[in-house]
Amino acid sequence: MTFSNPWFIAALVGVLGVFHVELVATFLNLAQFRHALPERLKAIFSGETVQKAAEYAAASSRVDLLRSAVSLAALIAFWWGGGFDWLQRWSTAWGWGGIQTGVAVIGLLILAQNVLSLPFDVWDTFKVEAEFGFNRMTAGTFISDRVKGLVLSALLGGPLLALVLWFFQTQKLAALYAWLTVAGFSIVMAWVAPRLLMPLFLKFKPLENGTLREALLALAARLKFPVVDVSVVDGSRRSSKANAFLSGFGKNKRIALYDTLVEKHSQAELEAILAHEIGHHKCRHVPKQLALGLLETGLLFFLLHAALQSPAFFTAFGVAGMPLGLGLVLFSILYSPASLLLGLVSSASSRKHELEADAFAKTACGGQPLIEGLKKLSVDHLSHPNPHPLTVWLHYSHPPVGQRLAALEN
Ligand SMILES: [Zn+2]
Repeated sequence: MTFSNPWFIAALVGVLGVFHVELVATFLNLAQFRHALPERLKAIFSGETVQKAAEYAAASSRVDLLRSAVSLAALIAFWWGGGFDWLQRWSTAWGWGGIQTGVAVIGLLILAQNVLSLPFDVWDTFKVEAEFGFNRMTAGTFISDRVKGLVLSALLGGPLLALVLWFFQTQKLAALYAWLTVAGFSIVMAWVAPRLLMPLFLKFKPLENGTLREALLALAARLKFPVVDVSVVDGSRRSSKANAFLSGFGKNKRIALYDTLVEKHSQAELEAILAHEIGHHKCRHVPKQLALGLLETGLLFFLLHAALQSPAFFTAFGVAGMPLGLGLVLFSILYSPASLLLGLVSSASSRKHELEADAFAKTACGGQPLIEGLKKLSVDHLSHPNPHPLTVWLHYSHPPVGQRLAALEN
């Protein structure tokens, strides 16, 4: 540990900086509840709902802050206690090749991170979400979701990681090849995930014949959107919160509505929500977000390449030698402030897309049904009625409900 190493200073300032920005944002966001609501929102959120939303925000924030504090403390203790050096010497003693060792070391650290965060996830699901009436998950579903998630990450992420490490071990243009590989992988996954992966977690059933199905298909036809199937998924097995999604490329679009959404919303509202989802596709938001993500990945690999060339980068973390797999992990620590900053760009772009999709839905179905649907969703989900701008910039993929309503009412 040396304070004269610039990599060390950058990593330390980075992790402490990210933690404190989140801390300040959380407190500002909770303090917002003390201010009176703008007129538009007073009509939607009753005093009782605001009170409950404040309690829910406080309880969730408590879990999140404690989770971050514990993981920050664990990281610094491991780092300053010589943990990375110990891990490097231990894994070298296995006598494996660089790539196998790299994949195993990264896998171990991801697993450790999962174990560390597990108690907080349990607390969040079975205490906070349950107390506010959202959780519908049994312990069995919770455990099987976890196990399936880890197995899938190992099966899909393992080989991808091995390939990326191989590029960095053998190729001069490693950053470029790794970037192209990840780009290809992301595009394939966008196609595969709704077809093969989501059914491992959710049950899809065709929406039964009736006026709702006919109305949704008629709307899709009117908007010249080739829908082949409308299904209902059993989101209610996990949470009472509702959601809708659309998937598919080319001429095979599938609409999936959470059963919780169908239960709570009128036909007109569901049509407006579908029109919003179709708006995302018509405005080509999926490829735009994907392109933005890939730009970020390109930058990441470029910087990673630079870091891996520098012995001082490894000594900043107390590691002798330049092990590749561990280098990737150390780089992810160093990269955390950059990823926070780049997250601002992608969530701002996502919020802009939401307003565009709302505008599309308004043209298709009129503003009123979507307004009603959004009001109902915000109250049901105990959303923060008036979040602080810093929290919105950092975390909101959707604009706060007040902003969406204002745009729709204009
Ligand atoms: Zn949307």
